[in-house]
Amino acid sequence: MENSSESQVTQALQLIARNLEMKEYIQQSPEWYPLLFSVAKRFVTGETREEGLFAGHQLTQKGYRVSLEFIGENTKCEEECIRAKEEFVELIKQCGNQGIDSRISFDLSHIGLSVDPELAYLNLREIANEAKLRGLSLMISMEESAKTDSILSVYKQVVMEYTNVGITLQAHLHRTVDDVKELLQYPGAIRLVKGAFQEPSGICISRSEKLDQRFLELVDICISNNHPLSIASHDDKIYQQVIERGYFQSPHVEAEMLYGIRPELCKHLHKEGLPVRIYLTYGTEWYLYLCHRLAEYPPNIYDAITDLIKGEKNYFQHY
Ligand code: FAD
Repeated sequence: MENSSESQVTQALQLIARNLEMKEYIQQSPEWYPLLFSVAKRFVTGETREEGLFAGHQLTQKGYRVSLEFIGENTKCEEECIRAKEEFVELIKQCGNQGIDSRISFDLSHIGLSVDPELAYLNLREIANEAKLRGLSLMISMEESAKTDSILSVYKQVVMEYTNVGITLQAHLHRTVDDVKELLQYPGAIRLVKGAFQEPSGICISRSEKLDQRFLELVDICISNNHPLSIASHDDKIYQQVIERGYFQSPHVEAEMLYGIRPELCKHLHKEGLPVRIYLTYGTEWYLYLCHRLAEYPPNIYDAITDLIKGEKNYFQHY
């Protein structure tokens, strides 16, 4: 990141994101919750499953692919993990009933990883089974590097039986060069992202041209192996390279972007006839998600101030 004051804002916001006391305070405050939710609404479709499904329906009608996530992470008690798993199962059933061909995405720490990896494994299998019955796919998100090994381990246990499960990899971690080569041997789709978490400098590359090069090298590896790939970025330079290299001609490749971020880029790629997936979230646990979106791109704080005052609704009309 060229601008040092921007990079300081990013670091401060990433620290705020990790502050669990602040998160709990805001989520429970009758004053702060609605105020900040009006900011989060740019990135989150709403608090309820119905709102997520409604946005999914609107965007699939326009010809986009979608992912849906019931937002949450780091669930600390078993009952809550089971409730989250049940919500995902219900979401899949509703997608099936309403004919919404959505990919379902989630953090393993939302459904058990922070309690016991075995619980995450069992819950993942149940969700994967329901999705398989409905012809839908799942995508596991990638969390902080301290969890990478356990996330990959649960993924590998499930994916041979449930090939409809995919995995997200973060280009900014040095280890991903080896991980991607290993994971090509598994049938699940790969979603490649730059990485949203602040990590120790020794294990990662920060936002830079070097990271963009690494991202494209990883794309090259997946494409040359004909592996299903979601290129998940809002970076037009990345897409330009991918288009120039002719990678979108492969039926296994798609672009994926987060709802509320660069809708004009989504629209442009979509108009060019390229496959574009929009990642939709819903739920009340939007605090960490909002912090990440502001930290990734501090100019979003200007929009946040406008949203505080004006409170735009139905953001999907921008697509
Ligand atoms: P950047 O270099 O960060 O940004 C490139 C350009 O994109 C910027 O100059 C700006 O114009 C635009 N841009 C980027 N971010 C924003 C923003 N927030 N608001 C407005 N404009 C923006 N990360 C994980 O660590 N784990 C995950 O599981 C994960 N899943 C993801 C799933 C999807 C579908 C996507 C799109 C991202 C996911 N991320 C995940 C986040 C990802 O790691 C990056 O932090 C995020 O995508 C920003 O990086 P970038 O590739 O857009 O490039």
